[in-house]
Amino acid sequence: MNKEHIFKKKLLYWSKKNTRKYSWRKTQDPWKILLLEVIAQQTQLDRANSYYEDFIKKFPTPQEMSKISKKDILRMWSGLGYNNRALRLLETSKILSKNSFDSIYPDFDILPGVGKYTKNAILSFAYKEKVIAQDTNVLRIFTRFFGIKEPEKFIEKNQLNILKNIQSRKFNEALMDFGNKICTSKNPSCSICIFDKYCSKFMENEKKSKSKFKGSNREIRGKIIKHLTENKNVNISDLKKIITAEEKKLNEILKKLENEGMITIKNKKLIEISS
Ligand code: SF4
Repeated sequence: MNKEHIFKKKLLYWSKKNTRKYSWRKTQDPWKILLLEVIAQQTQLDRANSYYEDFIKKFPTPQEMSKISKKDILRMWSGLGYNNRALRLLETSKILSKNSFDSIYPDFDILPGVGKYTKNAILSFAYKEKVIAQDTNVLRIFTRFFGIKEPEKFIEKNQLNILKNIQSRKFNEALMDFGNKICTSKNPSCSICIFDKYCSKFMENEKKSKSKFKGSNREIRGKIIKHLTENKNVNISDLKKIITAEEKKLNEILKKLENEGMITIKNKKLIEISS
């Protein structure tokens, strides 16, 4: 199984129990998808969802929205911030009230406020295209998992292969949720991550912590205790031959272990675990 295949398989398995449920996740209506995506830019999905529910009730099609004033849309948008998004959405609704999505397919990025991510989300969710919707969360996951520097190029090259035999929608939703819950931008939950040793970032971190551990006091203490639990009447000079460490450092560690009551040193020669 190659790395792309492992990524896909594990991610989809994870998403079975972890996908967030929202009404728009069932729709194939491009207007609803566009509306949600514009609202969700720079906004937490749960918060965006409550605004989306109000908007879609009032504007089930672009035609309804196209008739309202800038003042009205800004009033509804209040609390979401980045007010330009609301004004661009209004412009978009005016364009879409005269032109259907199908008539501008697949160039949805000609619409004001629609970037590559929203375009791909519409293509995936409404048109079932084999595309990966790439926002910063998605690019971060790819960068970390595959250990690559140019995730956009990587995705362009591999998306057809990754999305082979699966619904792109399911995959895109899984990525969204995984980036939100596990592979977060700060403090990702690597210790509970489904990918662990398959993830390049995870392995890089493991390597770093191992090299930090190597030769550290912690490692030497561990080796001493292990040796003492497995052997009787250990002589300090023998121990020094077995454990690679500077003599001064080793003496300090032995002294510390003795002070902590962990070991007993007899006649400055023999050591054993304290009883
Ligand atoms: S192991 Fe960590 S960095 Fe890698 S995908 Fe999982 S959470 Fe992200």
